[in-house]
Amino acid sequence: MRVILLGAPGAGKGTVAKMLNAHDGSVQISTGDILRSAVAAGTALGVEAKGYMDRGELVPDALIMGIMEHRLQEPDAKKGFLLDGFPRTIPQAEALGKMLAKLGIKLDAVVSLEVPREVILDRLTTRRTCSNGACQEIYNVKSKPPGPGDTCLKCGSPVIQRADETVEAITKRLDTYESKTAPLIDYYRASGVFLAVPNLVSAEAFGAIVKRLGR
Ligand code: AMP
Repeated sequence: MRVILLGAPGAGKGTVAKMLNAHDGSVQISTGDILRSAVAAGTALGVEAKGYMDRGELVPDALIMGIMEHRLQEPDAKKGFLLDGFPRTIPQAEALGKMLAKLGIKLDAVVSLEVPREVILDRLTTRRTCSNGACQEIYNVKSKPPGPGDTCLKCGSPVIQRADETVEAITKRLDTYESKTAPLIDYYRASGVFLAVPNLVSAEAFGAIVKRLGR
């Protein structure tokens, strides 16, 4: 399937994307993961993106479009993709539309995952992430704690609270979402493939998407 996942930070885009990937062999493309790997590796992209990310601001559109143009053409995206965290602004959505038309790719759905703000704040402040850029396994201090000494159960690296998951940065990210990304819901509502799905329980959101897409 070829799907855009919209939703605030903490709405569960990554979790639902992984379930859909396991279901149909599509690939999750998360701009946040790509940027965090670049920061961890200290590449030019990472150095440029880090300040914006730590402050909970969006990285400039031009940087993101460069990453996506390249990423969408990699062989693993041929089987389908779930876009997680992209597009984040109307200009990104317009540029994506042109890019997909050029590549001859048609979207199956634009899914908006909907979660109340207080649930999001709780999810994000209790979230922990593996610091290994190649792993980035997600933990939660309440529902899925990391291993002894705050280490990753998958790769053994330290598990950390992301710099952009402090209360200040989360508040800023949610405000950024409301002003810059939420307008995409109206932008895509008229597309004929828009679907709003509550996501308090990821397995239920996954089921609703698969049912709607009929696969
Ligand atoms: P995420 O993990 O998707 O919440 O992304 C973490 C941070 O990466 C965001 O707060 C932004 O600073 C940056 N970022 C991720 N995706 C984008 C995007 N499509 N456009 C601009 N900035 C992005």
